[in-house]
Amino acid sequence: MTPTPVTSAAQLFDEQNIDHYRALVAAGVDRVVGQLVGRDRPFTGITPDRLAPEISAIDLDRPLGDPAAALDELERVYLRDAVYFHHPRYLAHLNCPVVIPALLGEAVLSAVNSSLDTWDQSAGGTLIERHLIDWTASRLGLGDAADGVFTSGGTQSNLHALLLAREEACRLREKEGFRRPEILPRLRILASECAHFSVTKAALLLGLGPDAVVAVPCDRDRRMLAGALARELDRCRRDDRVPMAVVATAGTTDFGSIDPLPEIAELCDRAGVWLHVDAAYGCGLLVSRRRHLLDGIGRADSVTVDYHKSFFQPVSSSAVLVRDRATLRHVTYHADYLNPAHSAEARIPNQVDKSLQTTRRFDALKLWLTLRIMGADGVGELFDAVVDRAAEAWTLLAEDPRFEVVARPQLSTLVFRYLPAEPAGVTPDAIDRANLHARAALAASGEALVAATVVDGRHYLKFTLLNPRTSVRDIAEVLDLIAGHARAHLGDRLVHA
Ligand SMILES: *Cc1c(COP(=O)(O)O)cnc(C)c1O
Repeated sequence: MTPTPVTSAAQLFDEQNIDHYRALVAAGVDRVVGQLVGRDRPFTGITPDRLAPEISAIDLDRPLGDPAAALDELERVYLRDAVYFHHPRYLAHLNCPVVIPALLGEAVLSAVNSSLDTWDQSAGGTLIERHLIDWTASRLGLGDAADGVFTSGGTQSNLHALLLAREEACRLREKEGFRRPEILPRLRILASECAHFSVTKAALLLGLGPDAVVAVPCDRDRRMLAGALARELDRCRRDDRVPMAVVATAGTTDFGSIDPLPEIAELCDRAGVWLHVDAAYGCGLLVSRRRHLLDGIGRADSVTVDYHKSFFQPVSSSAVLVRDRATLRHVTYHADYLNPAHSAEARIPNQVDKSLQTTRRFDALKLWLTLRIMGADGVGELFDAVVDRAAEAWTLLAEDPRFEVVARPQLSTLVFRYLPAEPAGVTPDAIDRANLHARAALAASGEALVAATVVDGRHYLKFTLLNPRTSVRDIAEVLDLIAGHARAHLGDRLVHA
């Protein structure tokens, strides 16, 4: 590595410091590579108790100066014990391994550091983002008037979409002579009981009442019951409530289940209600050979997509899309210093006019380089591989007497739990504790990471498969580990009870 530059100005990314830039970034890449080589587990099992004192002891007012020393320290406090999503036995949350073209994009976008709020801070970046939005909208089938914007994630995309839905609902009621304070408490969002909790958070942020989100029941496969939705829409009308939006989920976080989009779209059409489809997880189907699972999504008024879930993109990379670009005006404000009204008249493209954020990363570049280098079909191939794997793993679980598995997956999650061979005499609470213990013990060993959830009041474990390198053998090994931990826990408990 080149010697440490002596002046602060020597740390600036500019023409005078090219060697330093190259060497330092390459050194960082080497340290990351060092973590990839020979890592036999996704996690070390480090606890916050052990790591916290090491980090809090670092005096941020006393720089190390030497980049190598700073990287050594980083290895110690972060890289060594980080959770690695590229590892085939990382099976926990909706975190994907990332593709290298996107990492190239990340390196470029942070160096150039465009801000995608205005043309005069990004130039081509704004047009690249717009082209990707158009591409996504066209894959969704949203029609010629569609538009949208990149966001920080599904939570923000859902908030954004529901804000537009609220404004549309208010606009209609205001025309009928109602005032906003009268309308807001009457607004209802209908979402399935398996919808993401960010919908409820959005309702809170949007100033709706505490009962604003109505949980529509699901069938056994965790898909919204269209009949139940129809009844809730009727009930709203009878009770003088205003259905502001229906949120359908295309890929629920726990079960990967896809709500029946065509039936839901039909009901929304008839009732004149905004349809938002949360495809944060399921969006990968847009490029897969299972695109048909999203049939009906083109009828949505708004859609959330998380490229950082099923397009193998690094965090953050998400977008909100709308069928009618005119609805985006609800977040348009003009600031004299940034995007004055006359810039719109001059047809200067400013994404800030459509966004909840102001300064905003050029995350779109990662997807751009991904599509330009490996192509959409290449991304789809990766996603299809994990969906295939989940189907195989389901068969494995369904045939294994040690486990009970819930809902055959449409995407790539599996919800299951360990059941003792002799459940007689073992209380349901003990089975719950055994499963929780198995998850914790597995994480403590670092050998594999799995998630957990609650189904009908009982504790279950969850695999979220997003790594095409995870083999059925990996899954079988992890199941053996889980069964071992759970059995040991139950055995101990029975002996000591
Ligand atoms: C992950 C997820 C979200 C939230 O997205 P973030 O990117 O984590 O903010 C919303 N909806 C669904 C269905 C999700 O799976």
